[in-house]
Amino acid sequence: MMNQNVIVSDRKAILGSKTVTVSNSPLFSSPPTYFTFPRHKFLELLEAADKNSNNINKNNLGAGKIASWVDSMRDSSPTRLRSSSRDSVSDNDHKASWIVRFPSALNMFDEIVNAAKGKQIVMFLDYDGTLSPIVEDPDKAYITHEMREVVKNVALNFPTAIVTGRSIDKVRGFVKLNEIYYAGSHGMDIEGPTSEYAYGGESNQGVLFQPAREFVPMIEKVYKILEEKTKWIPGAMVENNKFCLSVHFRRVDEKRWTGLAEQVKSVLIDYPQLKLTQGRKVLEIRPTIKWDKGQALNFLLKSLGFEKSEDVVPVYIGDDRTDEDAFKVLRERGQGFGILVSKVPKETNASYSLQDPSQVNEFLRRLVEWKRKTVGEA
Ligand SMILES: [Mg+2]
Repeated sequence: MMNQNVIVSDRKAILGSKTVTVSNSPLFSSPPTYFTFPRHKFLELLEAADKNSNNINKNNLGAGKIASWVDSMRDSSPTRLRSSSRDSVSDNDHKASWIVRFPSALNMFDEIVNAAKGKQIVMFLDYDGTLSPIVEDPDKAYITHEMREVVKNVALNFPTAIVTGRSIDKVRGFVKLNEIYYAGSHGMDIEGPTSEYAYGGESNQGVLFQPAREFVPMIEKVYKILEEKTKWIPGAMVENNKFCLSVHFRRVDEKRWTGLAEQVKSVLIDYPQLKLTQGRKVLEIRPTIKWDKGQALNFLLKSLGFEKSEDVVPVYIGDDRTDEDAFKVLRERGQGFGILVSKVPKETNASYSLQDPSQVNEFLRRLVEWKRKTVGEA
């Protein structure tokens, strides 16, 4: 029998038997995002985050835990650059060795397309920081006309999905394309293309999967409480992503981060069914179900008929800690390429890197060109 929390379209009934398990996932299920700071500092943070997560699960957050939580906010969201020349030298060394480990996907373009010869590329794209620049006001994270065009061309040549923490409605409002799959709310809300021009001629697919449907009333309630509790903190903004919430602290003075963390903590204590993860200047509140961008990637590959195929090359491009779940899935599958968008070295499960959305645009443009050329040769 179909799980009552799972909505599956008739045509995609392959997922009818999917069981959604509830996990005791820790506060930080993947390592915190960190920038140019020493490895020992990272290990300390990881340890602090682990301790923190255990305590969150027990609804027992003390002042010390809040401090390490705020430390983690600071490290995933650096507000200043290092200045001393000694640091600069070591940072440069660090950056040089990092780029050897995670080379530019533009420099590795030939290797990537050679690996995809005779196989099906499936594109997965994060939104914020990948297709759009990170901006002060998350409601204004528009993509350029040029980026929209290239994503559309990618979608006409390869099955393409946007995988984001945002709600589908919000991201669709930015992207305005009907040729692609949307996996919103960290993959907890998946819809297929609605255009007849979509790759493979699929159209009007609508909702494919909503594993966290039963959490919607709780999310709405917590959204209202958080809005009330954070309205005294200048710059704080709570975004309702339908199946999850984002507390943006991009515009909050660093001195007030502790106050913000305390407010969020005081709300979460009453909702052990919700967990907290961190991204770039954002606290993400999500149901504790074991579902993330990596699971969404697997779901979409299965929907497209590539669950066990050797002939698929999934390419996932993203900039955030939540994208690491998808990079990890690609490593586990031993297929495809994870590409991290970052100007600074970060620990990652990706294989390659790109610096910013303009390089993402360039990579996608070359991919479309390559596809058109190979079709012409065939
Ligand atoms: Mg992002």
